[in-house]
Amino acid sequence: MSPEGVAHRVGVDLGGTAIKAGAVSLEGEVLERRSIPAELDRGPEDLAERIAGLARELGCTDGLGLGVPGLLDRAAGVVITSANLHQIDGFALVDAIAGHLDLPPARVALENDANVAALGEAWAGAGREDPDFLMVTLGTGVGGGVVLDGEVVTGSGGLAGEVGHICVEPDGLLCGCGKRGCLETLASATAASKRAQAAGLPADLAEVNALASGGDAAAIELLMDVGRDLGRGLAAATVLLDLRVFVIGGGFGAALPLLRPGIEEGLCERAYGRSAEDYRILGATLGPDAGWIGAARVGLLRAQENDD
Ligand SMILES: [Zn+2]
Repeated sequence: MSPEGVAHRVGVDLGGTAIKAGAVSLEGEVLERRSIPAELDRGPEDLAERIAGLARELGCTDGLGLGVPGLLDRAAGVVITSANLHQIDGFALVDAIAGHLDLPPARVALENDANVAALGEAWAGAGREDPDFLMVTLGTGVGGGVVLDGEVVTGSGGLAGEVGHICVEPDGLLCGCGKRGCLETLASATAASKRAQAAGLPADLAEVNALASGGDAAAIELLMDVGRDLGRGLAAATVLLDLRVFVIGGGFGAALPLLRPGIEEGLCERAYGRSAEDYRILGATLGPDAGWIGAARVGLLRAQENDD
């Protein structure tokens, strides 16, 4: 049951360019959604005020969940560091938002953006039928979230499931994390776009996808190659956790039908003890709503914990 008889929950997904937010029923059904520009250069205090304003407009009275990219101190409600949102590094975001909403800080739940997206798909999207799966987001980077028994595994410091930094090529390209050959340097939308250009294809992946769908051999080969690298990275996750279901999201996830043969090939090439028929590779179904819906779910779970 919802605390204090509240019939809906509010979630907020903070990104580098936009703040997406919305209200969901306790069953995960979308009631209302909003999106405003992030405008991070206005400073963290201003950001906290605008997030609180958005939450209030969505009818938030007893708490909310907040998804933020980066390394977080959940207990303190602080964003330690965020590569794409450096303006809020070290800022006590939870305290500031809770202050504006006149709520105890414990009512504002902070979680990593990839984890909230995974939880959103687990609760109301592609992962509904599967209690165990790996969510993979193909965007600027490659995000990941491990869901076991319907709950996101955060690990000791919140870095569990960061599959984008699984090493696929030890001597490969330099990654944003400072290491070489991470999955992200091969299979993110950014990487795929660079690979497309190197192959004489358009940088726009929607165009590459359209070309491949129309039978263009170079475009088909490129998506096969990127898919294979992705599959090789995912094989590491299956060896560790015996996961058999993958939910692929993010903007570049739209190319899944054409990435799939490569993903299966890479998985079978590197995974242990399983064959292609053992895996289910699903497209994410919530699109840009996954993050805030999952954030709302985190807020709901936190509220229930606090009430116990
Ligand atoms: Zn990396």
